[in-house]
Amino acid sequence: MDQLIETLKQKKFEGDIDSSVQTRDDYSHDASMFELMPKLIVFPKNDKDVAILIQAVVSLKKTIPTLSITARSAGTDMSGGAINDSVIVDFARYLNKIEKVSEHFAQTQPGVFYRDFEKQTFKHKALVPSFPASRELCTVGGMVNNNSGGELSLRYGKTEDYVTSLDVVLADGKPYVIKPLNRTELKAKLKLKTFEGQVYNEVYKLIEKNYDLIKNAKPKVSKNSTGYNLWDVWDRETGIFDLTKLFVGAQGTLGFVTDINFRLVKQEPYSGVLVCFMKNIDNLGEVINAVLPHKPASFESFDNYTIWFSIKFLPYFRKTVGWIGLIKLALSLLPDALIFFKGIPKMILLIEFTGQNQLEVDEQINKMQDVLKNNFKLEGIEDDDTAKKAWKFRIMRRESFNLLRKKVKDKHTAPFIDDLVVPPVHLVEFLPKLRSVINKYNLMATIAGHVGDGNFHVIPLMKIEEASERAKLEPAMKEVNELVLKYGGSLSGEHNDGLVRGPWLEEMYGKEVLDLFKNTKNIFDKENIFNPHKKTDAKWHYSMEHIRQHF
Ligand SMILES: Cc1cc2nc3c(=O)[nH]c(=O)nc-3n(C[C@H](O)[C@H](O)[C@H](O)COP(=O)(O)OP(=O)(O)OC[C@H]3O[C@@H](n4cnc5c(N)ncnc54)[C@H](O)[C@@H]3O)c2cc1C
Repeated sequence: MDQLIETLKQKKFEGDIDSSVQTRDDYSHDASMFELMPKLIVFPKNDKDVAILIQAVVSLKKTIPTLSITARSAGTDMSGGAINDSVIVDFARYLNKIEKVSEHFAQTQPGVFYRDFEKQTFKHKALVPSFPASRELCTVGGMVNNNSGGELSLRYGKTEDYVTSLDVVLADGKPYVIKPLNRTELKAKLKLKTFEGQVYNEVYKLIEKNYDLIKNAKPKVSKNSTGYNLWDVWDRETGIFDLTKLFVGAQGTLGFVTDINFRLVKQEPYSGVLVCFMKNIDNLGEVINAVLPHKPASFESFDNYTIWFSIKFLPYFRKTVGWIGLIKLALSLLPDALIFFKGIPKMILLIEFTGQNQLEVDEQINKMQDVLKNNFKLEGIEDDDTAKKAWKFRIMRRESFNLLRKKVKDKHTAPFIDDLVVPPVHLVEFLPKLRSVINKYNLMATIAGHVGDGNFHVIPLMKIEEASERAKLEPAMKEVNELVLKYGGSLSGEHNDGLVRGPWLEEMYGKEVLDLFKNTKNIFDKENIFNPHKKTDAKWHYSMEHIRQHF
């Protein structure tokens, strides 16, 4: 690394450079189950620094073939996307300015924490509604590069729907603006004799040549964060060519993002939640189909295991709900469910409606209640108290992810089947089969998530440092993945591929489409300097060799 440090100094890199053991150790983990010890951490001060760094890495790559760079913002990635054994580039220390915010648009650097960004957009009664459950921990740069989604994605979609343009630095070490282009603008790009022109030409040709194959490869689910989003780049009908679609969700494998322009949506200040306890889930698919046309802002679910585990691990939630909240929660929620159904319900549904005033919200809730009662004999409870209690489960789910960074007794969360998506129509058949696999491998895991999208977060608690536990990962993942794909689903709705799902892309898309993804990576990054071993470059044995041993 001395050569790289020397080159950076010569080129007047203004940011910080740190190779201390402590810092390297701090950056050797994200929120995934992997660890990779980097050799160097750099903290660029500005876009120029990012360009200098990339140019230096390219110039040294031949002499040091293992040299590579991985962008990192807040490091909450659950797929292993933000770790690397070479150089980590921290965007959060300096590239963290919010540049402009208005009622409809915002411009920001990638290292801004979402929680700070939201404070500014709220001043304009607006927001980027694709914030993840890690909204208090993550940055907007991480959201863009993972194509994050969250509880409001059912109504509003994912981050890809809110990015209007990106400033990026590509493998030639030069800055570019990418945004949707019309035919005339595209023609102008295709004429360029530069690296940029080459990228546009090659991506355009690749998509044109394989147009139907690519369009048909788009997963038939409402959310997907796997692969490269080639299907939304070029549309022959509209004549729009939009490279932001490819960059969003690329996990920094095609280049680095230095600036983001977002479109904002209007904040809806009023909300209400309908809580539904389902004694059995035989008609869950029909219930979902009946709920979705009413366009709830969010539609979440928790299985019976969530209730048991929440009770079991109550002490760990004390910090979130406080002692009083904790005792109230423990004493009250369970009996409610017991009174209603003489037993723990199989599933709890939380259906949220939002609006510009309380009347609007109440009308939506009343309509929904009628539908559930008349068609399914389900009681949607809107009683404030019960709703608040059930809402706490949602907070606990958000928080349960947070335990990723902590120990629960002697176990840790192991996100490897953490983000599956299955079209909701298949959930009645799918969910019991998923539960059988979880039980077969004796995985301590709940099934909770965004039922409206069929997107579930299954995050087992395991002693991952033990070989016998590690041995479960591959066969369990294989069975779950096969099940998801059998029902036409996606292996990740929000959390992306990284080290954990990259190796399964061929299973999901087939060899022909995977080759197109590999060609795409090659167009942008021939020398493989950007975030190696992730997405199309991931290999299962490499990932498994780097399972986390130190907690
Ligand atoms: C408790 C918890 C809950 C979570 N819930 C959700 C959820 O509901 N939905 C969801 O989508 N995700 C969720 N996640 C995963 C993660 O928090 C999000 O994907 C988040 O948006 C990542 O943001 P970050 O700033 O931590 O990014 P990082 O982890 O730093 O990076 C994420 C990826 O983007 C790349 N990257 C970062 N910055 C740049 C840049 N400037 N240029 C190019 N590439 C870059 C990194 O290399 C990495 O591959 C959760 C994680 C935790 C720990």
